[in-house]
Amino acid sequence: MNDRVHFPGHVAPKDIDAVFLTHAHLDHSGAIPMLYISGKPKLYATRATYQQVEILLKDMLKLSGYYLPFGEPEIRKMLISGNSINYGEPVRIKDAEIEFISAGHIPGSCQVVINADKTLLYTGDFTTINTRLINGSDIPGEDFDIIVIESTYAREPHPPRGELEEKIANHVIETVNNGGLVVIPAFSIARSQEVACILYSKGYRGSMYMDGMATKVIELYLNSEDFIDGLDLLTKVYKKLRIVRGRKQRERAQRDSGVVITPAGMLKGGPAIYYTSRVADDPASTIILVSFQLPGTPGDMLLRERKLNIDGKIVPVRAQVYQYKLSAHAGMEQLHEYVSRIAGNSKIFTIHGEPESCEDFANWINNNTSSRAYAPISGETVEV
Ligand SMILES: [Zn+2]
Repeated sequence: MNDRVHFPGHVAPKDIDAVFLTHAHLDHSGAIPMLYISGKPKLYATRATYQQVEILLKDMLKLSGYYLPFGEPEIRKMLISGNSINYGEPVRIKDAEIEFISAGHIPGSCQVVINADKTLLYTGDFTTINTRLINGSDIPGEDFDIIVIESTYAREPHPPRGELEEKIANHVIETVNNGGLVVIPAFSIARSQEVACILYSKGYRGSMYMDGMATKVIELYLNSEDFIDGLDLLTKVYKKLRIVRGRKQRERAQRDSGVVITPAGMLKGGPAIYYTSRVADDPASTIILVSFQLPGTPGDMLLRERKLNIDGKIVPVRAQVYQYKLSAHAGMEQLHEYVSRIAGNSKIFTIHGEPESCEDFANWINNNTSSRAYAPISGETVEV
């Protein structure tokens, strides 16, 4: 994927009326403050997205503020510039009506339907698979003129979720029974809380610690009943969870035999670095990665080479290492099923994936549905 940010060059930020944000993840939200350097578009997102994006943007500013072209004032302008809207609550902007429908990706995530002279569905990141925290996406019934759909896993089927949950829980129970510590590096948004729910649901009742930004997010979710389908479960989990608040508790957690769930999911910063370095040399302990690991990240090096960079020194890892990808995106089968259900005579654009994924998905749609699909490249102009 292209890691440089391009805005539509023909529209100046000051001429943009509104921005609709599908969810809080930084690859969707991280550049929006730039629009507030010279513009003031209204921002629309769900309440849960607003709350999570505030946490993520402020953290990004803390970590990389020096390199960013915007600062705290732009983030503040962005956050006060619009309204939070709920699923199924249409908003009118000039002659267009815009509505959010749930996307099942992370709490508060949405797909965007635009009704104007043409109808358009933008899926954003989505999945139809139910997780412990939230249900899968709603499926819109309409025949849209245009569909813009994500393609992240268009070439990769997901293994059954239940199997992954079972394996993760088994490793945790086995390690803890043998006196080891399990470290689960996980994204602070949704994944950390999801993993805690999985372990609880699978009957794990040993020590369970949560550390870092994930603790702030779980407390936010407990007050977001409109956006958490598994709120009862999450409430039970929270009562069992030991929230790590400070150095002393952190030291205690790493000496215990139990499980620690903590960001960062790819070991790029966060308390996960502390815990993984503590268990690296212990064959009785276990590190479980629960997401895709981007090439070049410390998580990727751990997986491929069984090595960690501890204080600038590359050390071999003797702890057991596993990876189970608890994806929040639709896999190949879900993408095919979803698009088959909503495709009428739509013009479909496949985006948000490696070029081969976007192209394969467009070909599949052309061969299996009555819609016409195309994988555009960044910066391309397409007539519809
Ligand atoms: Zn996302």
